Amino acid sequence: MTKRPDEVALLAESGRLLASVFALLDRTPLVGRSTLEIDAMVERFIVDDLQARPASKGQYGYRYVLNASVNDVVCHGMPSSTAVLRDGDIVNFDITLEKNGYIADSSKTYLVGEVDPAARRLVQTTYDALWRGIRAVRPGARLGDIGFAIERHARRHGYSVVREYCGHGIGREMHEEPNVLHFGRPGTGLALREGMVFTIEPMLNRGRRNVRTEADGWTVVTEDGSLSAQFEHTVAVTASGVSVLTLRPDERG
Ligand code: MG
Repeated sequence: MTKRPDEVALLAESGRLLASVFALLDRTPLVGRSTLEIDAMVERFIVDDLQARPASKGQYGYRYVLNASVNDVVCHGMPSSTAVLRDGDIVNFDITLEKNGYIADSSKTYLVGEVDPAARRLVQTTYDALWRGIRAVRPGARLGDIGFAIERHARRHGYSVVREYCGHGIGREMHEEPNVLHFGRPGTGLALREGMVFTIEPMLNRGRRNVRTEADGWTVVTEDGSLSAQFEHTVAVTASGVSVLTLRPDERG
């Protein structure tokens, strides 16, 4: 569960490369593009430009390099040629990348064209909730502190937190111990130690927290059809606090 410094350095390199994938998406006009086109673009970039491996492809039988979760899709949306992004949509791209045997995992919810203020508020609050969780990370803090910080922020803004999916340890494997829940009680759960590397990836819904999986076996949607947003970073516990290994260029400084 705890990584050596040289392993954390390799994970940081994977994280840096993955951040550059999101920088590419930031430059990409999304209106009118299908999520399958975006999947193909990201695959070319990871393989050809970054000389890395899209770690989700082939994992658990999944055939794509990213999840594209639009509007009421909570997570695990599958890229499709018929899923064309429209003005006013929100879409989460969740991407993993392996370099030198170590995997980084991150996601960002994008605003497609002109998005109405209520949806923008959900997206911003979800981003802020992720950072509430990140700021709770330091040696000696407990996993419950992270979940508590996230859920408190969501509730304060009238949103619910999905409970069925959680963050996870990460390293040579995409999903390692521990599970990182996005709700919890402060002062409970595993104590964090320097060298732990895991994801934090809250999903917030405008309506109720309940979700269901569609017939394709992958796509997870809100049961009440309400909008859902998500952000994810891979983080490492350092001697004095936290290092965000997938920090994007637009988040620096
Ligand atoms: Mg993840």
